Amino acid sequence: MAEILVLVDHVDGEVKKVTLELLTLANRLGEAAAVYVGSGYESVKDKLAEYGAGKVYVAADEELTSYVVAPTAALLAQLVGEKSPAAVLVAATGEGKEVAGRLAVKLNSGVLTDVVDVSADLVGEHSIFGGALVAHAKVKTGTPIIAVRPNSIAPEAAPATPAEEQVSVTLSDTDKAAKIVESVVEEKGERPDLTEAAIVVSGGRGVGSGDNFKIIEGLADSLGAAVGASRAATDAGWYPHQFQVGQTGKTVSPQLYIAVGISGAIQHRAGMQTSKTIVAINKDAEAPIFELVDYGVVGDLFQITPQLTEEITKRK
Ligand SMILES: Cc1cc2nc3c(=O)[nH]c(=O)nc-3n(C[C@H](O)[C@H](O)[C@H](O)COP(=O)(O)OP(=O)(O)OC[C@H]3O[C@@H](n4cnc5c(N)ncnc54)[C@H](O)[C@@H]3O)c2cc1C
Repeated sequence: MAEILVLVDHVDGEVKKVTLELLTLANRLGEAAAVYVGSGYESVKDKLAEYGAGKVYVAADEELTSYVVAPTAALLAQLVGEKSPAAVLVAATGEGKEVAGRLAVKLNSGVLTDVVDVSADLVGEHSIFGGALVAHAKVKTGTPIIAVRPNSIAPEAAPATPAEEQVSVTLSDTDKAAKIVESVVEEKGERPDLTEAAIVVSGGRGVGSGDNFKIIEGLADSLGAAVGASRAATDAGWYPHQFQVGQTGKTVSPQLYIAVGISGAIQHRAGMQTSKTIVAINKDAEAPIFELVDYGVVGDLFQITPQLTEEITKRK
């Protein structure tokens, strides 16, 4: 079976969940071969093995991570030339999509972005217009380069014993065009990362103000959950944009998603509808979110949410 190259998405020696999703998908399509760029491989190798990386190409040369994106594309282009994989999978994040685009140009290959699934014959599935339409597309030229949207595939453990191979690439002047001069670590609170959290509690326009988001945070903290928001709430400046869930925000797929004061517009659903269990609190029994939920509470969020938080806290 041909290899499927998976570009490992990692930060400070921690593998992002999307990588595990890509490895799971890769093993459905062929043999997953992870490509790890940067230092810290030792701290992630067990995770990659647990999720089925049969092979890992390790590019530890620090120079590769001293420049923005281009060296990774150069390395992948070289690997594609040498190993002839059936496809290359990357995360459809800002950085992943830039790598995909650059790689496609280097290889003269077709690229699919924002794919939510890939069939055995490498047909990519796209969920478009906020999930209202499903489109299928296949790369016809070169090695398919496929950027897969995080949280689209359920990661499955499939223990493997990866063969490791050290790799490197000689960078051209063009690859060195944008040097990283400073890295600032984003301050992280106690809450889990929105796209990786097992539970997400999101607030919408019904929450009424930024101050009131304390109610959402209170419920989230009682559950050890991440906080999300609808676009109406982020556009109003009640919560930062990086927490927006939906078509133009983050895609989440937690075990439990609680939508508080959110109507359930199609663009919001696009970012959360694959959540395992969905709960909504909304005072309007006709709100479209109730078409989607496993459990719906019709009532005033200002009464129900604090009661729920209190009850959960009591039972912990
Ligand atoms: C191109 C495009 C992209 C978009 N992308 C996104 C996106 O990524 N994410 C996103 O969320 N939206 C997105 N939108 C916006 C989307 O169409 C909706 O406008 C938005 O999701 C509405 O947010 P909301 O549900 O919080 O507000 P509303 O639709 O106003 O709903 C508020 C809800 O709160 C309920 N409510 C009010 N008070 C209370 C109370 N006291 N107790 C309980 N319930 C209460 C109401 O009954 C209502 O159902 C996009 C729109 C477009 C055109």
